[in-house]
Amino acid sequence: MSKHVTHWIAGKPFAGTAARRGDIHNPATGRVSGTVDFAGTAEVAAAVEAARAAFPGWRDTSLSKRTSILFRFRELVHAHSGELARLISAEHGKVVSDAAGEVARGLEVAEFACGIPHLLKGGFSENVSTGVDAYSILQPLGVVAGITPFNFPAMVPMWMFPVAIACGNTFVLKPSEKDPSAAVRIAELWSEAGLPDGVFNVVHGDKEAVDALLEAPDVKAVSFVGSTPIARYIYENAARNGKRVQALGGAKNHMLVLPDADLDLAADAAVSAGFGSAGERCMAISAVVAAESVADELIDRIKDRVAGLRVGPGDDDRSDMGPLVTRAHRDKVASYLESGVHEGATLAIDGRVHPVLGDDAAEGFWLGPSLLDHVTPEMSCYRDEIFGPVLSVLRVSGYDAALELVNANPYGNGTAVFTRDGAAARRFQNEVEVGMVGINVPIPVPMAYYSFGGWKQSLFGDSHAHGTEGVHFYTRTKAVTSRWPDTGGAAVDRRAAAAG
Ligand code: NAD
Repeated sequence: MSKHVTHWIAGKPFAGTAARRGDIHNPATGRVSGTVDFAGTAEVAAAVEAARAAFPGWRDTSLSKRTSILFRFRELVHAHSGELARLISAEHGKVVSDAAGEVARGLEVAEFACGIPHLLKGGFSENVSTGVDAYSILQPLGVVAGITPFNFPAMVPMWMFPVAIACGNTFVLKPSEKDPSAAVRIAELWSEAGLPDGVFNVVHGDKEAVDALLEAPDVKAVSFVGSTPIARYIYENAARNGKRVQALGGAKNHMLVLPDADLDLAADAAVSAGFGSAGERCMAISAVVAAESVADELIDRIKDRVAGLRVGPGDDDRSDMGPLVTRAHRDKVASYLESGVHEGATLAIDGRVHPVLGDDAAEGFWLGPSLLDHVTPEMSCYRDEIFGPVLSVLRVSGYDAALELVNANPYGNGTAVFTRDGAAARRFQNEVEVGMVGINVPIPVPMAYYSFGGWKQSLFGDSHAHGTEGVHFYTRTKAVTSRWPDTGGAAVDRRAAAAG
């Protein structure tokens, strides 16, 4: 049965009048499973207006009431995480256990936001001058917008809205049009948790909806996660319109394998971080930078593991890895295997011939785990963010050459070093120009109470997502200097009290 996904505005579904719609696919079968309405300026204006109207009441809602709604929301998402995971898997393609993992990681941000009373405490200085006190208060911005990518349809929005809403803002989410259903289900759960209508809204669509959000005067801040060219576009245009903006972009994550590394640990890490979620993770390992002395052995161990990986539909319990999100994306990712070989790399593992589970898989968007060896920095498979299950191995003489490679790359999202040498690892964490660093940990996604964000072309703006940087992004500080002159007529007569 074909589904139809529409917007969520002011606490209920909102069909709108826009003529444009997009198809939703099941990537495992290649078939269209539904359609999604695309918002035009009228639908975006309705969502922003709902959020604007809800803001005064929500900003004045007590911290304890806000927190109790957040706790209920957390419980509801937790209770429905299996259902959410299946929704995500059916539209994105990732295996259900992986989708459940993304819901769990998103929930950690909601849990962090449950502590908002503590996080919103300002400072207080008594008697900065005689009889004068000074203090600071953190206030919400108003309507804020989130624009999110296809690869984590629950987790990435949850990097944003639990903190934004806990801080007293109202929110308009524009999720990816490729897998829009999770956002709407989350909106229903917010309502069930008791969130007032209009505090959380969802509009679907593409550039037209995004541009309308960037133009809307009532939108005070924009959080974006997606590819680098669009992140730059969002950053420049939101800033031009006077909005606060954080725009997280693409990545090319390097994993260094030094000569003394535990090669079994490194091979396990390369396989899970390179091929998990079909490599469609902004923290996926894409480039394995291996010391020449261990590269052959490492590749052999990766090959052994890849032979046992089961590629198949996300809802098949046997599958370790699902399909890619669209046919066009699968074709583009596969094209790097050809261009890599053409430019001089060796195709050590060809994912195009990896077996696929399931009887209904013929038209699915499949590409099995692949590995290009002898890759060099000028090859397009190294320069571009592939965003698929393709590992590129670059062979280097040692630590200094590896570090130079990572630091010369325009992206700076995540990186990892595999070594048994604590001093080498410590040097790496100090010298590498990347926002998130793993030491013998391949995907170093920060916990919710730290902040997520890269450096260089992986982030435009100066605030990372969630954690205390998230609270900072979604609030502005007011500094108050206060004097209450003692006029003598007060209820408490301090002069009389002093005289005894
Ligand atoms: P994308 O940039 O194509 O789309 C992201 C969002 O922008 C979507 O909501 C989309 O509808 C919208 N959009 C697309 N084209 C637009 C345009 N021309 N104008 C205005 N809006 C537009 O990204 P994607 O393909 O959905 O996601 C994959 C990308 O996201 C990868 O590059 C990945 O590295 C990146 N990503 C980064 C992080 C991070 O934390 N840095 C996290 C997840 C994904």
